[in-house]
Amino acid sequence: MSERKRIYLCLAHMSEAGLEQKYIKEAFDTNWVVPLGPNVNGFEADLETFVGEDKKVVALSSGTAAVHLALIACGVKPGDEVIVQSFTFCASSHPITYLGATPVFVDSERDTWNMDPELMEQAIIDRKAKTGKYPKAIIPVALYGMPYKIEAIMSIANKYGIPVIEDAAEGFGSRFDGRVLGTFGEFGILSFNGNKMITTSGGGALICPDKESADKIMWYATQAREAYPYYQHEAIGYNYRMSNICAGIGRGQMTVVDDHLRHHRHVQKMYEELLAGVDGISMMKAPSEKYDANYWLCTMCIDPELRIKGQENAYKKVITGAVGGAAGVIHAVDSATTDCQPNDNVEALRMFMDSAQVEARPLWKPMHKQPVYKNNPAYVNGVSESFFKVGMCLPAGPYVSDEEVRYIVKCIKESIE
Ligand SMILES: *Cc1c(COP(=O)(O)O)cnc(C)c1O
Repeated sequence: MSERKRIYLCLAHMSEAGLEQKYIKEAFDTNWVVPLGPNVNGFEADLETFVGEDKKVVALSSGTAAVHLALIACGVKPGDEVIVQSFTFCASSHPITYLGATPVFVDSERDTWNMDPELMEQAIIDRKAKTGKYPKAIIPVALYGMPYKIEAIMSIANKYGIPVIEDAAEGFGSRFDGRVLGTFGEFGILSFNGNKMITTSGGGALICPDKESADKIMWYATQAREAYPYYQHEAIGYNYRMSNICAGIGRGQMTVVDDHLRHHRHVQKMYEELLAGVDGISMMKAPSEKYDANYWLCTMCIDPELRIKGQENAYKKVITGAVGGAAGVIHAVDSATTDCQPNDNVEALRMFMDSAQVEARPLWKPMHKQPVYKNNPAYVNGVSESFFKVGMCLPAGPYVSDEEVRYIVKCIKESIE
């Protein structure tokens, strides 16, 4: 078992033709080693074709930067509030705090695990009653690529005149009712981090409604320069443009995006079939055909009653392996537990899979349960917290083969006591 190559959740996967390297080489050969150039323009054009709907797309240095600039474009200022899905990765909410504004967290519904439209409307009404102002923007998130209930979200947002920023960072290529996520709201967030549907090694993009708003985003992303022969600044800008080297990788990746989408959906289908008869394990699936998820990550829930081998040892040891390792985890912790964590059987399964060379991960911990946001307003129904306690992410990336999916399922079955 130890000789097996480790299977990761979602690894970057370059095109067979090596087009990424061809575009990078072109950038070097023509001396476009800067945060603008033919690859950036070409990548943006490819993205515009892919998302359709006559949208303009601006390539940026990260998805987080895209969230930040979308908030600025929606006029978010210090003291404002922004509604954001609680069940998400921190990049959806952190940029709200960069601006001195306050994230107001809204819990999820059970069908898609994304923002509950009814609770969202209650939050809008309650914030107006409590602060005298409506929130400045609403950020639903396509968690693990699953489309949110965008029709209900848009109709409520429009009723109160609040712009929607769709966080489709995990949902690149997912569609609702045939239309690409990120094109329904005022803005749409994309991420090309190393572990997303496609990668530029690190990067993101903002889907904008028109050229005028795209130009404004571009201006903010390049230090807000005025058209003088010398540097003249009348507003605060950011250094958020994508580099021409990264965009070269992106152009190559756009040639395989449809293959990646097909593969992630195929892996999901395999898990659904292979785990169908296993008591106590249930795969998360789209509630209907309208929700055309990319299945960036495949996720499952584990019945709290299911006994997993080694469960008695769950959370007994402080984790040290992540510290100083990947992804910049450099803060050691002195406790093996927190007041809100996945059930013991979930942690036991994670450890079992880890020793079988399979990366499995808990679901994202809801933001309203994060210590850093403990004083933020939150409209909660218990849904995200309950899924966090029973859920697990499984490898889905384009690298995962059919044989590996069968092996992963075999390991899951073996882990059950
Ligand atoms: C990855 C991600 C982002 C941000 O992307 P980066 O490119 O890593 O900055 C934003 N929101 C969600 C939900 C994500 O998963």
